[in-house]
Amino acid sequence: MSFTTLPLLPTIQKAIEKQGYQQPTPIQAQAIPEILKGKDFLGCAQTGTGKTAAFSIPILQILSQKNLQHKNIKALILTPTRELAIQIEENIKAYGQFISLKHLVIFGGVKQGNQEKSLKNGVDILVATPGRLLDFIGQGIISLKQLEIFVLDEADRMLDMGFVHDVKRIIKLLPQKRQTLFFSATMPNEIQQLASTILNNPIKVEVTPVSSTADTIQQSVYFVEKDNKLELLSHILKTSVKDSVLVFARTKHGADKIARKLQQNGIITEAIHGNKSQNARQNALSNFKSGKTRVLVATDIAARGIDIDELKFVINFELSDVSETYVHRIGRTGRAGSAGTSISFVDGLDLINLKNTEKLIGKKIPVVKDHPFHTDNLVVQKRDSNNKPFNPGQRNNNQKPKNAQRQELGFKKVKNKNFDRKK
Ligand code: AMP
Repeated sequence: MSFTTLPLLPTIQKAIEKQGYQQPTPIQAQAIPEILKGKDFLGCAQTGTGKTAAFSIPILQILSQKNLQHKNIKALILTPTRELAIQIEENIKAYGQFISLKHLVIFGGVKQGNQEKSLKNGVDILVATPGRLLDFIGQGIISLKQLEIFVLDEADRMLDMGFVHDVKRIIKLLPQKRQTLFFSATMPNEIQQLASTILNNPIKVEVTPVSSTADTIQQSVYFVEKDNKLELLSHILKTSVKDSVLVFARTKHGADKIARKLQQNGIITEAIHGNKSQNARQNALSNFKSGKTRVLVATDIAARGIDIDELKFVINFELSDVSETYVHRIGRTGRAGSAGTSISFVDGLDLINLKNTEKLIGKKIPVVKDHPFHTDNLVVQKRDSNNKPFNPGQRNNNQKPKNAQRQELGFKKVKNKNFDRKK
């Protein structure tokens, strides 16, 4: 299926094409036509499925077809973290580059002056974290009275982070008559309840995550203390592995740190992540493809679309909280039946993710002990997606609804295949 089969304006098609997207992801194919019809939508989908475009594209189209004064906020996207908020606004900017709508992102932790100034200039689409939004509403800087579309993104994470009361307060301030789009990676009871109170006869779509790994990939785990990971990586790259290697890091800062350390150790390395310009990313990628750079360190978002024939090695410097990410990461190697190897470094903070990953892929990943940094003494440590200590009782992968429950809830299931941009 191509984007051209969706009822999208040429200006939006052009922007999508510019992004290099070849085809809509399953959630996009399901959500875009329904949202365009004005329906409420409940999506059980996590980051990486293309859900941001699934709601942003129809919002841009709906609003661009109205004769807006650009004075009142017409669409609000509420999301739990600053990083997500920034990412969403970047996407809106990209998809809306050929239409004249005003959008803005607001979040806490920075002075409010610039955000306030931009708000006063008029905003059609606002992306916000709950605290800063309530601040501005309290100060009379923001009014949501003219709102037409409300998106609640990552509802379960809102709950985990203790934002549920803020979210409920915000919902009370929205006009009754509106279109509501609700996204959550999991659907625990509290989320279902919240969804049922704010959605009106929604279209429900659940994206079933990818779960199988290719047999051609030889997978292994190395148990190592956090502080020894950099040394272990250098050791592997200097002794056992001679090929090009794609290293996955959880954070942009982490990716930079790894690249710096490897460079210091004489291994030609570059890092790509969201803080690097598109040009810098493309240069790094072509250097890696041509063999000029031996190691490329990437965050998950930056790595999407990287398609390197004959990549033999993937190293997970940390495991992701989202188990499906493992499948996507190691799927960069062992393509089209060729042999590949993946190594995952596991410290105390990765142990829970390892367990969840093994559960997802339905097999144990063999532990390799034959290296100087092996430890048998890892202790389980917890963190949330912001790297902060994780309180027991919060969401984890085990709380994903069971199939039966999902069906009972009336979700239409779509498979989340790997999807890439044009090369
Ligand atoms: P999301 O799940 O919204 O966080 O999206 C994850 C990543 O997928 C983002 O980097 C998007 O730019 C990218 N993406 C979204 N839709 C598509 C598509 N149809 N084809 C290729 N990449 C996409």
